[in-house]
Amino acid sequence: MDLYEYQARTLLEKENISVPAARYARSSHEVAQAVDEIGLPCVIKGQVKTGHRGQAGGVLLAKTKDEAILASEKILPMTIHGHKVNGVLVTEAKNILHEYYVSISLDRTSRDYDVLATVHGGTEVEEIAHNHPEDVRRLHIGPLEDFNLEAATKMAAEIGFYHADVDQAAEILLKMWKVFKETDATLVEINPLAKIGNPTDESSKALCALDAKISLDNNAAFRHPEWSEFTDSQNADPLEVRAQQHGLHYVRLDGQVGVIGNGAGLVMSSLDAVAGAGEGNPAMKPANFLDIGGGASAAVMAESLDIVASDPHVASILINVYGGLTSCKTVAEGILSAIESNGLSKPLVVRFDGNEAAEGLRLLADAKNPHIHVNDTMEEAAANAVAIAREVSTTSGSTTGRH
Ligand code: GDP
Ligand code: MN
Repeated sequence: MDLYEYQARTLLEKENISVPAARYARSSHEVAQAVDEIGLPCVIKGQVKTGHRGQAGGVLLAKTKDEAILASEKILPMTIHGHKVNGVLVTEAKNILHEYYVSISLDRTSRDYDVLATVHGGTEVEEIAHNHPEDVRRLHIGPLEDFNLEAATKMAAEIGFYHADVDQAAEILLKMWKVFKETDATLVEINPLAKIGNPTDESSKALCALDAKISLDNNAAFRHPEWSEFTDSQNADPLEVRAQQHGLHYVRLDGQVGVIGNGAGLVMSSLDAVAGAGEGNPAMKPANFLDIGGGASAAVMAESLDIVASDPHVASILINVYGGLTSCKTVAEGILSAIESNGLSKPLVVRFDGNEAAEGLRLLADAKNPHIHVNDTMEEAAANAVAIAREVSTTSGSTTGRH
Protein backbone atom coordinates (compact mmCIF):
# COMPACT_ATOMS: atom_id res chain seq x y z
CA MET A 1 0.00 0.00 0.00
CA ASP A 2 1.39 3.35 -1.05
CA LEU A 3 0.81 6.31 1.24
CA TYR A 4 0.14 9.90 0.34
CA GLU A 5 2.84 12.40 1.27
CA TYR A 6 0.62 13.86 4.00
CA GLN A 7 0.32 10.38 5.57
CA ALA A 8 3.95 9.33 5.05
CA ARG A 9 5.32 12.45 6.72
CA THR A 10 3.42 11.64 9.92
CA LEU A 11 5.42 8.39 10.19
CA LEU A 12 8.69 10.34 9.79
CA GLU A 13 7.51 12.91 12.31
CA LYS A 14 6.84 10.19 14.91
CA GLU A 15 10.55 9.28 14.73
CA ASN A 16 11.47 12.97 15.12
CA ILE A 17 12.71 13.43 11.57
CA SER A 18 12.41 17.13 10.88
CA VAL A 19 9.60 18.01 8.45
CA PRO A 20 8.15 21.45 7.64
CA ALA A 21 4.95 22.48 9.43
CA ALA A 22 1.98 21.53 7.28
CA ARG A 23 -1.82 21.30 7.09
CA TYR A 24 -3.88 19.08 4.82
CA ALA A 25 -6.70 20.86 2.98
CA ARG A 26 -9.44 19.76 0.61
CA SER A 27 -10.87 23.12 -0.48
CA SER A 28 -9.60 26.64 -1.12
CA HIS A 29 -11.47 27.68 2.03
CA GLU A 30 -9.47 25.17 4.08
CA VAL A 31 -6.29 26.37 2.32
CA ALA A 32 -7.00 29.94 3.53
CA GLN A 33 -7.35 28.65 7.10
CA ALA A 34 -4.18 26.58 6.74
CA VAL A 35 -2.22 29.63 5.55
CA ASP A 36 -3.36 31.52 8.66
CA GLU A 37 -1.87 28.76 10.80
CA ILE A 38 1.28 28.00 8.77
CA GLY A 39 2.26 31.51 7.69
CA LEU A 40 3.85 32.77 4.49
CA PRO A 41 5.54 32.02 2.17
CA CYS A 42 4.08 28.55 1.81
CA VAL A 43 4.05 25.66 -0.66
CA ILE A 44 0.82 24.15 -2.02
CA LYS A 45 1.34 20.47 -2.88
CA GLY A 46 -1.16 18.24 -4.67
CA GLN A 47 -1.65 14.90 -2.90
CA VAL A 48 -1.39 12.04 -5.39
CA LYS A 49 0.28 8.65 -5.16
CA THR A 50 2.80 9.37 -7.90
CA GLY A 51 6.05 11.27 -8.29
CA HIS A 52 7.03 14.19 -10.57
CA ARG A 53 4.32 16.36 -9.07
CA GLY A 54 6.59 19.39 -9.20
CA GLN A 55 7.28 19.02 -12.92
CA ALA A 56 3.56 18.51 -13.60
CA GLY A 57 2.65 21.81 -11.90
CA GLY A 58 1.33 20.09 -8.79
CA VAL A 59 3.74 21.86 -6.38
CA LEU A 60 3.50 25.67 -6.28
CA LEU A 61 5.16 28.28 -4.10
CA ALA A 62 2.91 31.07 -2.76
CA LYS A 63 4.08 34.35 -1.28
CA THR A 64 0.63 35.70 -0.38
CA LYS A 65 -2.63 34.19 0.82
CA ASP A 66 -4.26 35.04 -2.53
CA GLU A 67 -1.48 33.22 -4.38
CA ALA A 68 -1.97 30.22 -2.11
CA ILE A 69 -5.73 30.13 -2.79
CA LEU A 70 -5.13 30.56 -6.53
CA ALA A 71 -2.54 27.74 -6.49
CA SER A 72 -4.96 25.42 -4.69
CA GLU A 73 -7.72 26.26 -7.20
CA LYS A 74 -5.31 25.17 -9.94
CA ILE A 75 -4.08 22.00 -8.22
CA LEU A 76 -7.24 20.60 -6.55
CA PRO A 77 -9.03 19.75 -9.84
CA MET A 78 -5.84 18.33 -11.43
CA THR A 79 -5.17 14.78 -12.52
CA ILE A 80 -1.43 14.10 -12.38
CA HIS A 81 -0.13 11.19 -14.47
CA GLY A 82 -3.57 9.58 -14.33
CA HIS A 83 -4.04 10.14 -10.57
CA LYS A 84 -6.81 12.45 -9.36
CA VAL A 85 -5.58 14.94 -6.78
CA ASN A 86 -7.00 13.96 -3.40
CA GLY A 87 -6.33 17.24 -1.57
CA VAL A 88 -3.43 19.61 -1.01
CA LEU A 89 -0.79 19.89 1.66
CA VAL A 90 -0.03 23.46 2.70
CA THR A 91 3.54 23.53 4.03
CA GLU A 92 5.77 26.31 5.29
CA ALA A 93 8.23 27.18 2.52
CA LYS A 94 11.85 26.54 3.40
CA ASN A 95 14.87 28.18 1.86
CA ILE A 96 16.66 25.33 0.11
CA LEU A 97 20.46 25.34 0.05
CA HIS A 98 20.89 21.81 -1.28
CA GLU A 99 18.74 18.79 -2.17
CA TYR A 100 19.86 15.24 -1.29
CA TYR A 101 18.08 11.97 -2.03
CA VAL A 102 17.84 9.08 0.46
CA SER A 103 15.76 5.94 0.48
CA ILE A 104 15.62 2.56 2.17
CA SER A 105 13.86 -0.19 0.29
CA LEU A 106 13.37 -3.90 0.21
CA ASP A 107 15.46 -5.45 -2.57
CA ARG A 108 13.79 -8.68 -3.65
CA THR A 109 16.64 -9.55 -6.00
CA SER A 110 19.47 -9.41 -3.47
CA ARG A 111 17.09 -10.42 -0.65
CA ASP A 112 18.17 -7.64 1.63
CA TYR A 113 17.59 -3.97 2.31
CA ASP A 114 19.05 -1.21 0.19
CA VAL A 115 20.02 2.24 1.27
CA LEU A 116 20.19 4.39 -1.82
CA ALA A 117 21.48 7.94 -1.64
CA THR A 118 22.84 10.69 -3.79
CA VAL A 119 23.88 14.29 -3.42
CA HIS A 120 21.76 15.13 -6.48
CA GLY A 121 18.27 15.10 -4.95
CA GLY A 122 15.16 16.83 -6.19
CA THR A 123 14.44 14.88 -9.36
CA GLU A 124 13.29 11.26 -9.42
CA VAL A 125 15.97 8.69 -8.63
CA GLU A 126 15.68 7.05 -12.07
CA GLU A 127 16.71 10.33 -13.67
CA ILE A 128 19.48 10.86 -11.15
CA ALA A 129 20.76 7.36 -11.85
CA HIS A 130 20.66 8.13 -15.56
CA ASN A 131 22.36 11.53 -15.35
CA HIS A 132 24.82 10.93 -12.49
CA PRO A 133 25.26 7.15 -12.15
CA GLU A 134 28.65 7.63 -10.50
CA ASP A 135 27.11 9.68 -7.72
CA VAL A 136 24.42 7.21 -6.69
CA ARG A 137 25.55 5.23 -3.65
CA ARG A 138 23.95 1.95 -2.79
CA LEU A 139 24.58 0.12 0.44
CA HIS A 140 23.10 -3.17 1.50
CA ILE A 141 21.86 -4.15 4.94
CA GLY A 142 21.54 -7.91 5.35
CA PRO A 143 18.20 -9.26 6.57
CA LEU A 144 19.69 -10.29 9.92
CA GLU A 145 21.95 -7.28 10.32
CA ASP A 146 21.03 -4.27 12.33
CA PHE A 147 22.06 -0.76 11.75
CA ASN A 148 23.71 1.49 14.35
CA LEU A 149 24.97 5.04 14.59
CA GLU A 150 28.51 4.04 13.71
CA ALA A 151 27.41 2.24 10.56
CA ALA A 152 25.05 5.07 9.66
CA THR A 153 27.81 7.67 10.08
CA LYS A 154 30.19 5.67 7.90
CA MET A 155 27.43 5.30 5.36
CA ALA A 156 26.56 9.02 5.36
CA ALA A 157 30.21 9.92 4.76
CA GLU A 158 30.52 7.38 1.93
CA ILE A 159 27.31 8.58 0.35
CA GLY A 160 28.84 12.01 -0.09
CA PHE A 161 26.92 14.16 2.36
CA TYR A 162 28.83 17.37 2.79
CA HIS A 163 31.10 17.25 5.79
CA ALA A 164 28.92 19.53 7.90
CA ASP A 165 25.87 17.36 7.20
CA VAL A 166 27.30 13.91 7.92
CA ASP A 167 26.30 13.61 11.58
CA GLN A 168 22.78 14.84 11.00
CA ALA A 169 22.43 12.67 7.90
CA ALA A 170 23.53 9.63 9.90
CA GLU A 171 20.93 10.35 12.52
CA ILE A 172 18.23 10.69 9.86
CA LEU A 173 19.31 7.43 8.16
CA LEU A 174 19.04 5.64 11.48
CA LYS A 175 15.59 7.09 12.11
CA MET A 176 14.50 6.11 8.58
CA TRP A 177 15.69 2.59 9.28
CA LYS A 178 13.57 2.56 12.43
CA VAL A 179 10.53 3.78 10.49
CA PHE A 180 11.23 1.16 7.79
CA LYS A 181 11.46 -1.72 10.26
CA GLU A 182 8.74 -0.69 12.68
CA THR A 183 6.10 0.15 10.09
CA ASP A 184 6.83 -2.95 7.94
CA ALA A 185 7.58 -0.72 4.97
CA THR A 186 8.96 -1.79 1.62
CA LEU A 187 10.05 1.76 0.82
CA VAL A 188 10.89 4.86 2.83
CA GLU A 189 12.08 7.64 0.54
CA ILE A 190 12.92 11.27 1.31
CA ASN A 191 13.44 13.36 -1.83
CA PRO A 192 14.46 16.00 -1.32
CA LEU A 193 16.15 15.65 2.01
CA ALA A 194 16.94 19.35 1.89
CA LYS A 195 19.59 21.40 3.56
CA ILE A 196 17.64 24.48 4.53
CA GLY A 197 18.37 27.77 6.23
CA ASN A 198 19.93 31.17 5.77
CA PRO A 199 23.14 30.94 3.69
CA THR A 200 24.91 33.52 5.87
CA ASP A 201 23.88 32.04 9.21
CA GLU A 202 25.56 28.71 9.90
CA SER A 203 23.39 27.99 12.97
CA SER A 204 20.19 28.19 10.91
CA LYS A 205 21.24 25.39 8.57
CA ALA A 206 19.70 21.95 9.02
CA LEU A 207 18.46 18.91 7.10
CA CYS A 208 14.72 18.69 6.61
CA ALA A 209 12.50 16.14 4.84
CA LEU A 210 10.62 18.21 2.27
CA ASP A 211 8.92 15.23 0.65
CA ALA A 212 8.12 11.72 1.87
CA LYS A 213 7.15 8.56 0.08
CA ILE A 214 6.35 5.37 2.01
CA SER A 215 5.01 2.03 0.81
CA LEU A 216 3.78 -0.46 3.39
CA ASP A 217 3.92 -4.22 3.01
CA ASN A 218 0.31 -5.42 2.66
CA ASN A 219 1.37 -8.85 3.95
CA ALA A 220 1.97 -7.24 7.35
CA ALA A 221 -1.44 -5.56 7.50
CA PHE A 222 -2.69 -8.14 10.02
CA ARG A 223 -0.41 -6.71 12.70
CA HIS A 224 -1.15 -3.07 11.97
CA PRO A 225 -4.78 -2.25 12.83
CA GLU A 226 -3.70 1.41 12.79
CA TRP A 227 -3.31 1.26 8.98
CA SER A 228 -7.08 1.53 8.64
CA GLU A 229 -6.62 5.30 8.80
CA PHE A 230 -4.66 5.10 5.53
CA THR A 231 -7.46 3.39 3.60
CA ASP A 232 -8.10 5.50 0.55
CA SER A 233 -11.87 5.08 0.33
CA GLN A 234 -12.21 8.02 -2.05
CA ASN A 235 -9.95 6.62 -4.75
CA ALA A 236 -10.40 2.91 -4.08
CA ASP A 237 -11.85 0.70 -6.79
CA PRO A 238 -15.37 -0.14 -5.51
CA LEU A 239 -15.16 -3.72 -6.83
CA GLU A 240 -11.78 -4.27 -5.14
CA VAL A 241 -13.21 -2.92 -1.86
CA ARG A 242 -16.24 -5.21 -2.16
CA ALA A 243 -14.03 -8.23 -2.89
CA GLN A 244 -11.80 -7.39 0.08
CA GLN A 245 -14.83 -7.25 2.37
CA HIS A 246 -15.61 -10.81 1.30
CA GLY A 247 -12.02 -11.96 1.78
CA LEU A 248 -11.50 -12.47 -1.96
CA HIS A 249 -8.33 -11.69 -3.86
CA TYR A 250 -9.57 -9.57 -6.76
CA VAL A 251 -7.47 -7.24 -8.88
CA ARG A 252 -9.07 -5.24 -11.65
CA LEU A 253 -7.14 -5.27 -14.95
CA ASP A 254 -7.89 -3.49 -18.19
CA GLY A 255 -9.29 -6.19 -20.48
CA GLN A 256 -12.64 -7.68 -21.42
CA VAL A 257 -12.49 -11.33 -20.31
CA GLY A 258 -13.36 -11.89 -16.65
CA VAL A 259 -11.28 -14.61 -14.99
CA ILE A 260 -12.19 -16.67 -11.92
CA GLY A 261 -10.18 -19.61 -10.65
CA ASN A 262 -9.05 -21.39 -7.51
CA GLY A 263 -5.49 -20.87 -6.35
CA ALA A 264 -3.24 -17.97 -7.33
CA GLY A 265 -1.09 -20.11 -9.66
CA LEU A 266 -4.06 -21.43 -11.63
CA VAL A 267 -5.57 -17.95 -11.92
CA MET A 268 -2.22 -16.56 -13.16
CA SER A 269 -2.05 -19.35 -15.75
CA SER A 270 -5.61 -18.58 -16.79
CA LEU A 271 -4.67 -14.91 -17.28
CA ASP A 272 -1.77 -16.00 -19.49
CA ALA A 273 -4.02 -18.35 -21.47
CA VAL A 274 -6.54 -15.54 -22.07
CA ALA A 275 -3.82 -13.06 -22.99
CA GLY A 276 -2.30 -15.60 -25.42
CA ALA A 277 -5.63 -16.44 -27.03
CA GLY A 278 -6.58 -12.77 -27.12
CA GLU A 279 -3.67 -11.62 -29.27
CA GLY A 280 -4.75 -10.36 -32.68
CA ASN A 281 -7.51 -8.09 -33.79
CA PRO A 282 -9.38 -6.89 -31.88
CA ALA A 283 -7.07 -7.80 -29.01
CA MET A 284 -8.82 -9.25 -25.96
CA LYS A 285 -7.23 -9.26 -22.53
CA PRO A 286 -8.05 -10.45 -19.01
CA ALA A 287 -10.37 -8.06 -17.16
CA ASN A 288 -9.34 -9.15 -13.68
CA PHE A 289 -7.63 -11.60 -11.37
CA LEU A 290 -9.97 -13.37 -8.95
CA ASP A 291 -8.90 -16.26 -6.75
CA ILE A 292 -11.78 -17.93 -4.88
CA GLY A 293 -9.19 -19.77 -2.76
CA GLY A 294 -9.24 -23.35 -1.52
CA GLY A 295 -12.45 -25.06 -0.39
CA ALA A 296 -14.64 -22.17 -1.55
CA SER A 297 -18.33 -22.36 -0.66
CA ALA A 298 -21.17 -21.89 -3.12
CA ALA A 299 -21.79 -18.47 -1.55
CA VAL A 300 -18.17 -17.40 -2.19
CA MET A 301 -18.45 -18.54 -5.81
CA ALA A 302 -21.74 -16.68 -6.28
CA GLU A 303 -20.27 -13.49 -4.81
CA SER A 304 -17.18 -13.82 -7.03
CA LEU A 305 -19.25 -14.19 -10.16
CA ASP A 306 -21.33 -11.20 -9.22
CA ILE A 307 -18.25 -9.04 -8.64
CA VAL A 308 -16.62 -9.97 -11.94
CA ALA A 309 -19.88 -9.58 -13.88
CA SER A 310 -20.40 -6.10 -12.36
CA ASP A 311 -17.39 -4.73 -14.25
CA PRO A 312 -19.04 -3.07 -17.26
CA HIS A 313 -15.99 -3.84 -19.44
CA VAL A 314 -16.39 -7.57 -19.02
CA ALA A 315 -17.79 -9.26 -22.15
CA SER A 316 -17.35 -12.91 -21.15
CA ILE A 317 -16.18 -14.79 -18.06
CA LEU A 318 -13.80 -17.74 -17.85
CA ILE A 319 -14.24 -19.95 -14.79
CA ASN A 320 -11.29 -22.30 -14.43
CA VAL A 321 -11.46 -24.65 -11.43
CA TYR A 322 -9.21 -27.54 -10.60
CA GLY A 323 -11.06 -29.31 -7.83
CA GLY A 324 -8.88 -30.34 -4.92
CA LEU A 325 -10.07 -28.99 -1.61
CA THR A 326 -12.60 -27.14 -3.72
CA SER A 327 -15.45 -29.24 -5.09
CA CYS A 328 -16.47 -28.46 -8.68
CA LYS A 329 -20.01 -29.43 -7.70
CA THR A 330 -20.05 -26.72 -5.01
CA VAL A 331 -18.67 -24.21 -7.53
CA ALA A 332 -21.44 -25.17 -9.98
CA GLU A 333 -24.02 -24.65 -7.22
CA GLY A 334 -22.55 -21.20 -6.61
CA ILE A 335 -22.71 -20.33 -10.30
CA LEU A 336 -26.35 -21.43 -10.51
CA SER A 337 -27.34 -19.63 -7.32
CA ALA A 338 -25.74 -16.39 -8.58
CA ILE A 339 -27.70 -16.76 -11.82
CA GLU A 340 -30.89 -17.47 -9.89
CA SER A 341 -30.60 -14.34 -7.78
CA ASN A 342 -29.17 -11.91 -10.33
CA GLY A 343 -29.72 -13.43 -13.77
CA LEU A 344 -26.83 -14.08 -16.09
CA SER A 345 -25.67 -10.84 -17.65
CA LYS A 346 -22.46 -12.20 -19.24
CA PRO A 347 -21.75 -15.48 -21.07
CA LEU A 348 -19.69 -17.97 -19.02
CA VAL A 349 -17.09 -20.46 -20.18
CA VAL A 350 -16.45 -23.15 -17.58
CA ARG A 351 -13.63 -25.65 -17.31
CA PHE A 352 -13.81 -28.09 -14.43
CA ASP A 353 -11.30 -30.76 -13.57
CA GLY A 354 -10.60 -32.84 -10.46
CA ASN A 355 -12.80 -33.18 -7.39
CA GLU A 356 -16.45 -33.72 -8.40
CA ALA A 357 -15.90 -32.29 -11.90
CA ALA A 358 -18.43 -34.68 -13.47
CA GLU A 359 -21.08 -33.82 -10.85
CA GLY A 360 -20.47 -30.11 -11.36
CA LEU A 361 -20.72 -30.36 -15.14
CA ARG A 362 -23.93 -32.39 -14.82
CA LEU A 363 -25.53 -29.64 -12.67
CA LEU A 364 -24.56 -27.03 -15.27
CA ALA A 365 -25.88 -29.19 -18.15
CA ASP A 366 -29.17 -29.74 -16.31
CA ALA A 367 -29.63 -25.98 -16.00
CA LYS A 368 -29.82 -25.83 -19.85
CA ASN A 369 -28.71 -22.20 -19.90
CA PRO A 370 -27.52 -21.29 -23.43
CA HIS A 371 -25.06 -18.74 -22.00
CA ILE A 372 -23.11 -21.35 -20.05
CA HIS A 373 -20.41 -22.93 -22.23
CA VAL A 374 -18.14 -25.77 -21.21
CA ASN A 375 -14.67 -26.81 -22.40
CA ASP A 376 -12.37 -29.63 -21.33
CA THR A 377 -9.04 -27.82 -21.13
CA MET A 378 -7.87 -24.44 -19.93
CA GLU A 379 -6.53 -23.52 -23.40
CA GLU A 380 -9.81 -24.38 -25.12
CA ALA A 381 -11.85 -22.57 -22.49
CA ALA A 382 -9.63 -19.46 -22.72
CA ALA A 383 -9.89 -19.44 -26.53
CA ASN A 384 -13.65 -19.87 -26.29
CA ALA A 385 -14.02 -17.03 -23.75
CA VAL A 386 -11.92 -14.78 -26.00
CA ALA A 387 -13.97 -15.69 -29.10
CA ILE A 388 -17.23 -14.93 -27.28
CA ALA A 389 -15.85 -11.63 -25.94
CA ARG A 390 -14.84 -10.66 -29.49
CA GLU A 391 -18.31 -11.47 -30.76
CA VAL A 392 -19.98 -9.51 -27.96
CA SER A 393 -17.80 -6.45 -28.44
CA THR A 394 -18.17 -6.36 -32.24
CA THR A 395 -21.95 -6.86 -32.16
CA SER A 396 -22.43 -4.29 -29.40
CA GLY A 397 -20.15 -1.95 -31.37
CA SER A 398 -18.28 -1.04 -28.23
CA THR A 399 -14.61 -0.29 -28.46
CA THR A 400 -12.32 -2.77 -26.79
CA GLY A 401 -9.84 -1.22 -24.35
CA ARG A 402 -10.77 1.11 -21.55
CA HIS A 403 -9.21 4.43 -20.83
P1 GDP B 1 7.64 15.75 -6.29
O1 GDP B 1 7.91 16.55 -7.50
O2 GDP B 1 6.37 14.96 -6.44
O3 GDP B 1 8.76 14.88 -5.87
O4 GDP B 1 7.33 16.81 -5.09
P2 GDP B 1 8.32 17.44 -3.99
O5 GDP B 1 7.57 17.52 -2.71
O6 GDP B 1 9.62 16.73 -3.93
O7 GDP B 1 8.53 18.91 -4.52
C1 GDP B 1 9.14 19.16 -5.74
C2 GDP B 1 10.17 20.25 -5.62
O8 GDP B 1 9.54 21.42 -5.13
C3 GDP B 1 11.29 19.96 -4.65
O9 GDP B 1 12.31 19.18 -5.20
C4 GDP B 1 11.75 21.35 -4.30
O10 GDP B 1 12.68 21.80 -5.27
C5 GDP B 1 10.49 22.18 -4.40
N1 GDP B 1 10.02 22.45 -3.04
C6 GDP B 1 9.30 21.65 -2.22
N2 GDP B 1 9.15 22.21 -1.01
C7 GDP B 1 9.81 23.40 -1.05
C8 GDP B 1 10.06 24.45 -0.11
O11 GDP B 1 9.65 24.45 1.05
N3 GDP B 1 10.79 25.52 -0.54
C9 GDP B 1 11.28 25.58 -1.82
N4 GDP B 1 12.00 26.66 -2.15
N5 GDP B 1 11.08 24.62 -2.71
C10 GDP B 1 10.35 23.55 -2.35
MN1 MN C 1 9.93 14.62 -4.26
